[in-house]
Amino acid sequence: MKLQWADQFQFAGYYVAKEKGFYRDAGLDVTIQKFDPKKLAIDEVMSGRSTYGIGRSSLLIDRMHGKNIVALSAIFQSSPFILLSQKSADIKTPRDLIGKRVMMTQDFQDSISVRAMLNSQDIRMGELKFLEHSYNPLDIANGKADVMACYISNEPFVLKEKGIETNAISPEAYGFDFYSDILFTTESEIHNHPKRVRAFVDATLKGWEYAFAHIPETANLIRERYNGQNKSLESLIYEGEVLKTLAYRGNQPLGAITVDKFRRISDIYRVMGLPQNEKRLEGFIYEDTAHQTVPMSVDERSFLHVNTIRYTSTYAWPPFNFSSNANSGELQGITADFWKLIVERTGMHTSFVPSPTWAAVVDAIKTKTADVTLGTSISGDKEPYALFSKPYASFPNVIVTDKTIDFIPGLDALEGKKVAIGQGYGIADSIAKKYPKITIMGVEDTREGLKLLSSGRVDAVIDILPVVAYLINADHHLDLKISGTTEFDFEVRMMVRNDYPELKSIIDKAIDTITVAERQKIFNRYIAITYEKSVDYSWVYGIGLVALFIISIFIYRQFEMGRYNKRLLRMATTDPLTQLSNRIRLDEKLVECHQYYQRTQRSYSVMIIDLDHFKRINDTYGHLIGDISLVNLSQILRESIRDIDIVGRWGGEEFMIICPETNIDGAYHLAEKIEEMISTYDFPHIHTLTCSFGISECREGDRIENVVGRADNALYRSKEEGRNRIYKG
Ligand code: GH3
Ligand code: MG
Ligand code: MG
Repeated sequence: MKLQWADQFQFAGYYVAKEKGFYRDAGLDVTIQKFDPKKLAIDEVMSGRSTYGIGRSSLLIDRMHGKNIVALSAIFQSSPFILLSQKSADIKTPRDLIGKRVMMTQDFQDSISVRAMLNSQDIRMGELKFLEHSYNPLDIANGKADVMACYISNEPFVLKEKGIETNAISPEAYGFDFYSDILFTTESEIHNHPKRVRAFVDATLKGWEYAFAHIPETANLIRERYNGQNKSLESLIYEGEVLKTLAYRGNQPLGAITVDKFRRISDIYRVMGLPQNEKRLEGFIYEDTAHQTVPMSVDERSFLHVNTIRYTSTYAWPPFNFSSNANSGELQGITADFWKLIVERTGMHTSFVPSPTWAAVVDAIKTKTADVTLGTSISGDKEPYALFSKPYASFPNVIVTDKTIDFIPGLDALEGKKVAIGQGYGIADSIAKKYPKITIMGVEDTREGLKLLSSGRVDAVIDILPVVAYLINADHHLDLKISGTTEFDFEVRMMVRNDYPELKSIIDKAIDTITVAERQKIFNRYIAITYEKSVDYSWVYGIGLVALFIISIFIYRQFEMGRYNKRLLRMATTDPLTQLSNRIRLDEKLVECHQYYQRTQRSYSVMIIDLDHFKRINDTYGHLIGDISLVNLSQILRESIRDIDIVGRWGGEEFMIICPETNIDGAYHLAEKIEEMISTYDFPHIHTLTCSFGISECREGDRIENVVGRADNALYRSKEEGRNRIYKG
């Protein structure tokens, strides 16, 4: 990592990241290369002698000139660059500079902000007298010069210590607002080592956060270990304080860098007559940083800095929060996944406090032995001790009945009936108020309610869609189905202890950054569970269509985007990454084909395709390249099938093609064709990949799972026997 100036607080984040082991913990071995006026960071990075460098906004000009550099992070949101003069000289505005002797480097790019400022004030460069820079601040006091270009974080303090008061003119105040200290690297580093780039940026920002939160400690570290300039502790502390305000200027998250601001900078360059190449702006900003940070105020940042957030949850609410081994281990589920996103984007430090019951969760928030719980609905009685985040998901409460009951249009159809609802669930009150004629039976939980329903002791059970779908499947209630939906939605929110308003507002801001596609991905994951765990496809047949219908509705409501109804319905059956059908749609198609087979004896075939050694691809090239390969492969698959076939994403890197009215030889032929297309395709970065295939045909007496099972076994054999081959099952 190449510095662009002599050691001082300006580079504190890098020193701290190294000395505190943030780089090491991220698996990085970082050498901080000292400043050398003959070896500029841009040249060092382009030549490969440095991997990362720090530069000014003028990096954009280098980019426009064809250097393939990418800006990763801007440490200072505004430049510390100023024109400094002795107070007694009374130089306060750009016009006061006319006729004055100014020490400033004549490097065009370095001085662009000053030139632009003068330009905007109708002052020509010739009206100032430029002198060679001595870098000695005393020169504006001893008569050698009137004005000196310098950093607001350094020279004013040096002079002040000597009792010399100063005035500063800042181009920023005249609208020429540039980033300063931009961390950058090359495009090839990003392509070849995406994980390393991410890790380096994160560890560096962590270093900076620490440095700004502990300025005296950091100043001391610099004085002891990085003090080529022999600065005093006080001047380093002063520098740290000033730079901190520049780093967090405008309430930007630390390191924020945006295309918009570079557009404005580029406009200034244009006015100054520098060559423009609008296209080159594209790709100049590191994508990852652009989206993934939550904008936070300084208070919120420091709140997160001093507090480790203790989150609590039960394991007892699948698919929202549960664990794969009963009552311990990693928390999984919809709430856990949303929480993961929030933690990632805010960089908060967390620890998990498991609670055995919901009552224990509430108690933990009340007594402040935990700070937040991940999923609940808003409830007035908790207001004395809790705050609620904005909702991050919303689901309809649905009605479960015996399979023989027809579609239930609404709750009034249940008047006079017995309905089981979990004890203490908010929905019970809402129903009791609006439908007093419904008899509500409080049960321990919905699982219990479904048991009672199965044995005919109640007429219906009500709970939210994902929970019900999950439990019906997990407990094999083949006799039950979802027969209708209620008008009551369940809005899922986080509940925060009431003396932590900062945490609530941080969570709210983080929720705002979660995109529709990301929500969809989380839901797909847990809706998929309900299918994966089941081998009995009669279940799909039984409730599949109603569930699909209801899922569509909940997504529809979820985002309150009525006019995009059609698109959302499509989303419910489309895999967001590859745009192929998702598992829900594949299951539906299997049912369709199977029924057709049973009526007409016309067979269908199934093909499962699994990428070979895909883990290695991810490990070598990164997840992003992995994803791109999946997208490209999807394209090949889409192009190779007939109109009546359907291709979908069956799992992570497994695809399924269903071919109606096709026997196994036909399917084999198609597989050969696909194999050929894959082998001649040049995948970006990885160039070649192979797949293994398992195919099967529906036979007399088969159930759907037999057909799928045989294709799966065949796939397994083709893996066993060396991969890149097609087996019939
Ligand atoms: P093989 O199938 O040949 O035995 O080896 P494999 O390495 O492909 O092994 P396996 O099928 O068990 O592993 C699948 C890997 O695919 C695991 C996971 O890292 C990766 N993967 C799954 N879904 C995605 C995805 O959406 N994007 C990316 N980039 N990787 C994925
Ligand atoms: Mg696999
Ligand atoms: Mg694989």
